[in-house]
Amino acid sequence: MRKDYEQHFAECSHCRSRQNFHRGLDVTLAVLTSLAVFFFLFALAVLKHIKPLEHVAFNVFGLDIFDVNHMLVSAGVAGLCFSVIALTLVLTTTPASAYLGGIAAERARLIEERLPEAIRAFRSR
Ligand SMILES: [Zn+2]
Repeated sequence: MRKDYEQHFAECSHCRSRQNFHRGLDVTLAVLTSLAVFFFLFALAVLKHIKPLEHVAFNVFGLDIFDVNHMLVSAGVAGLCFSVIALTLVLTTTPASAYLGGIAAERARLIEERLPEAIRAFRSR
């Protein structure tokens, strides 16, 4: 079954371009969800260490500092959970991880081919 698919992808340029398009979408989703995880972590770190908006909340809006901080931290934690779940879904339901792993393996092979002979002999020992 798999062999038939691969042969068809090798012969049919229409299906191959569609496959490339969908691989691109998978990788884009993986990158976007990892960025979301990173930014929510960053936002939580900022809230923990800098506590921004304290003056705005207190002076301009007349809000309680604890309430505002609590609300922002809750939003950050919720966003972090959501983006971790989204990243897990993307990595488990799409072939993006296998695709990226394949690219990494290919790069590693190319780098190894360019290594000087002395280092290669050292590595194979
Ligand atoms: Zn086709």
